Amino acid sequence: MRQLTVYHFLPDKLNLYSDIGNILALKQRAKLRNIELKVKDINVTDGITFDACDIFFIGGGSDREQSLATKELSKIKVKLKDAIEDGMPGLTVCGGYQFLGSKYITLDGTELEGLNILDFYTESQQDRLIGDVVINSETFGTIVGFENHGGRTYHQFGSLGKVVNGHGNNGQDAKEGIHYKNLLGTYLHGPILPKNHEITDYLLEKACERKGISFEPQQVNNDEEEAAKKVIIDRVKNK
Ligand code: GLN
Repeated sequence: MRQLTVYHFLPDKLNLYSDIGNILALKQRAKLRNIELKVKDINVTDGITFDACDIFFIGGGSDREQSLATKELSKIKVKLKDAIEDGMPGLTVCGGYQFLGSKYITLDGTELEGLNILDFYTESQQDRLIGDVVINSETFGTIVGFENHGGRTYHQFGSLGKVVNGHGNNGQDAKEGIHYKNLLGTYLHGPILPKNHEITDYLLEKACERKGISFEPQQVNNDEEEAAKKVIIDRVKNK
């Protein structure tokens, strides 16, 4: 059987609003293509190399969890940057997304070191950006999710999409998330992948391309995923 391996960083600390569901969605949609997805949970990063990694995932966490995660993540920043520049697909959510920048400044002014992979930073504000989100993405179509963050992120990179409903990166520039090479960052929890199969398949397909294995665009029934997406779109419309 063909195999892919996903590295799940700090699942013990960064798993807000069921971010673990993203791993389950990757597993399931890989299985539909007869690909076995192996999951390597990484809670301690010492000695980690990316040689056996096909996709990586970092979920979100409260400011407290984020500060605990900072030390572990900073140990892999050079290796992870190299892997991303080399085209490794990855998904980072909320706190995990904020880590891609140089720093996250918490409400009390504490600066948490980021991975410094991309040139941006995030600053927290008192009023939180909370609620259902709908975005239009050039690459993925209509994407839905749930956001709850104090951090405001501004950057000049490509975004995941344009905010139709909700706040997105900062509540101002109508951008949600980031899309750099095969790396995705987003404020969308919920989790994002089970109801946005286009993104799940993108990550799997890029991983297969990179590994030189085929990803057959087999007929997959997406009715349940589309129904889940519709619930959020309708809820937002009827507000
Ligand atoms: N602590 C961050 C913020 O509030 C991230 C929260 C999250 O992952 N939902 O901005």
